[in-house]
Amino acid sequence: MADSSEGTRILVTGGSGLVGKAIQRIVADGASQPGEQWIFVSSKDADLIDTAQTRALFEKHRPTHVIHLAAMVGGLFRNIKYNLDFWRRKLRPRERKEDVHSHLRKNIQINDNVLQSAYEVGTRKVISCLSTCIFPDKTTYPIDETMIHNGPPHSSNFGYSYAKRMIDVQNRAYFQQYGCTFTAVIPTNVFGPHDNFNIEDGHVLPGLIHKVYLAKRSGSALTVWGTGKPRRQFIYSLDLARLFLWVLREYNEVDPIILSVGEEDEVSIKEAAETIAEAMGFQGELTFDTTKSDGQFKKTASNKKLRTYLPDFQFTPFKQAVKETCTWFEKNYEQARK
Ligand code: NAP
Ligand code: GDP
Repeated sequence: MADSSEGTRILVTGGSGLVGKAIQRIVADGASQPGEQWIFVSSKDADLIDTAQTRALFEKHRPTHVIHLAAMVGGLFRNIKYNLDFWRRKLRPRERKEDVHSHLRKNIQINDNVLQSAYEVGTRKVISCLSTCIFPDKTTYPIDETMIHNGPPHSSNFGYSYAKRMIDVQNRAYFQQYGCTFTAVIPTNVFGPHDNFNIEDGHVLPGLIHKVYLAKRSGSALTVWGTGKPRRQFIYSLDLARLFLWVLREYNEVDPIILSVGEEDEVSIKEAAETIAEAMGFQGELTFDTTKSDGQFKKTASNKKLRTYLPDFQFTPFKQAVKETCTWFEKNYEQARK
């Protein structure tokens, strides 16, 4: 670590998810440094919506560093469906129906509990995770780190977006009042092994991979939702994991940083679907269900700041990363989240 690795305890919230599993793999593959202790936690270790459970988790591990990934996450269609009333769960005794957390409230509560608990146990650095979908919908391109609060986000995911934007506000406040190095990264659409391959709830790449798998099995066409024209920058979870380790060790700004492939690597949804079809040897027809939403047309992000720090960082080529993810899904079909 930049600030002495002796007795470094890194707590990763959301350690069982897509990004958390990728960081686990990079660490297991040799990226860990002497003196580092990595602790990956999931909701089984503590429900981070609950303040007491979050405090107890932080008291137990007293992390010197935190990578905060835990969040309620979903693709376009889950966000549209549950912006206000996301993920209903069983009511606790005496809990009122209106107390059930919305997408907005859940993420705000998780983030508030994590940042405050980190402050209370003296954590030296917290890296939270924003997303390029939280930027203003009406904007100039490319989007950069200075634009987060410049206007309303796309209406499809305003609950998630405002909750995430608040992390940036909190990071600045913790720095101003207490001098904490609480920062955030801003990845584009992430994909890779251990993603959520649920067709209704997941993001576009894992959803399409699952659909191609089923279409191959039944000999039917692949239905891509929307027109296929929207454009996205995709980042492979293992590349993102390597960048997280760099941020942990080398990046000391409170201001967030976009972690993205270049603008020239943006692809249309149609191109992404064709890449998956090729990777999985799917010969059938591609159809487009234009009754389904396209969501945000594009959110093209600049990786200029990242490139200023890391001009030589090599991203895995999109085709190769898609191929690896498809192979993982086919091999792990029974256990995969779907
Ligand atoms: P994911 O696969 O859905 O994993 C979510 C993680 O959060 C899981 O480990 C889950 O634990 C944990 N979690 C959820 N609610 C929790 C709670 N109440 N208490 C404790 N833990 C809880 O998500 P991901 O795709 O890896 O996303 C990681 C981060 O990246 C998130 O902050 C997300 O907003 C951000 N991000 C994701 C994308 C993307 O395309 N996926 C893009 C940009 C930014 P369990 O396994 O126990 O449920
Ligand atoms: P977003 O990037 O935050 O909008 O979320 P997604 O990862 O869910 O991507 C949504 C885009 O992919 C929209 O343009 C959808 O119309 C398109 N899309 C095409 N097929 C699918 C699919 O099977 N699942 C999802 N989630 N999106 C799809």
